[in-house]
Amino acid sequence: MSHVFPRHTKARLPLVARGEGCYLIDADGKRYFDGSGGAAVSCLGHGDPEVTAAIKDQLDKVAFAHTGFFTSEPAEALADLLIAHAPGALDRVYFVSGGSEAVEAAIKLARQHFLEIGQPERRRVIARRQSYHGNTLGALAAGGNEWRRAPFAPLMIETTHISPCYEYRLRREDESAEEYGRRAADELEAEIERLGPESVMAFIAEPVVGATAGAVPAVEGYFKRIREICDRHGVLLILDEVMCGMGRTGALFACEKDGVAPDILCIAKGLGAGYQPIGAMLCTRAIYDSIADGSGFFQHGHTYVGHPTACAAGLAVVSAILNRGLVARVNALGAALKDALHERFGQHPNVGDIRGRGLFLGLELVADRASKEPLDPARAVHKAIKAAAFEAGLICYPMGGTIDGRRGDHILLAPPFVMEERHVDEIVDKLGRALDAALG
Ligand code: PMP
Repeated sequence: MSHVFPRHTKARLPLVARGEGCYLIDADGKRYFDGSGGAAVSCLGHGDPEVTAAIKDQLDKVAFAHTGFFTSEPAEALADLLIAHAPGALDRVYFVSGGSEAVEAAIKLARQHFLEIGQPERRRVIARRQSYHGNTLGALAAGGNEWRRAPFAPLMIETTHISPCYEYRLRREDESAEEYGRRAADELEAEIERLGPESVMAFIAEPVVGATAGAVPAVEGYFKRIREICDRHGVLLILDEVMCGMGRTGALFACEKDGVAPDILCIAKGLGAGYQPIGAMLCTRAIYDSIADGSGFFQHGHTYVGHPTACAAGLAVVSAILNRGLVARVNALGAALKDALHERFGQHPNVGDIRGRGLFLGLELVADRASKEPLDPARAVHKAIKAAAFEAGLICYPMGGTIDGRRGDHILLAPPFVMEERHVDEIVDKLGRALDAALG
């Protein structure tokens, strides 16, 4: 009997024995292609010798030193590297141990910033209904999934939610993509005005929506208008790139492709690439200075923030992404995979949409392609696909959910950047078998 408390308590999971490149291998020797990279984590695949060596090297020097007493070489070098490539005026990095912690820190930083500059009434957060920002209570409060939030209500952060920018279902036939983007962004302005601008501290969004929607980018122009609206009302823009950041969408930071820079940026998953638990929150100099010149103490922290071994892993990962030209590779392989998905599933009666950027791709599953009628939730097709794909030796990330109140099952693909051209066929073949088994 296992004494590990699994999330799905009824699941019987195989033991993972090894990782090799794009594959995970269980204790019986079965190989699984890591087609979702552990939810967009394993961008370098498994067993990268450079990252492993960097971690070992740091372990030999010093594994842990509390940040109340010391900073460390890898933390300083990683912060420098991130800032050198970060969009806009981002200028300071606060290291944490994962995505929820990065979002939690971002929300608390926004709040403390307004307290420090004498605007204590700014405490509300606006987010989007189609969003996941993490599972700690603050991050959960920001996220849009009602069913995740409900058991823990009332949550501490006062959050209200607007629609996502989701062209496939929400664009009207009589409007262009540009008009739709404007209309979707203007929901933020309406919400700020409804709440009263003086009470709103931040808007938080994922540039490309991951787990809750299956790699949905916004239409062109949407985030630029969001940026303008935030600026007009003195609201901070927090971008959550925990899943879509670190090269995943074919730019080191996803928001680069939207032409905007946030006031606060959250990253995690691909930063440690699964080698160490690490996340980070980047903020502008102005926000940092509000605390540095004010109380001088950020009212947030955990024992493991800025962990030297985690930072050493992050430094090796980001260096690998940059030095091995992996962002360009993501664009090339992402295009090849998207083409292959279109070729194989473009006319599939149950595939309504194939979307995404770089190696962050999603398939929307529908009951009928023409009407976009969602699948019957009672069929729980996403669960059947997950099981059938796993059986076929493909790890992918299917989710059932609602898209702005409407049912929307989807599959997320986020394979390692180090995959080869030949893996495109393997992914598409195994996915095809899973769809046949689940829908046939
Ligand atoms: N934000 C986003 C966009 C995420 O996808 C996730 C995790 N799926 C999180 C935050 C939370 O990250 P973690 O699970 O590392 O706490």
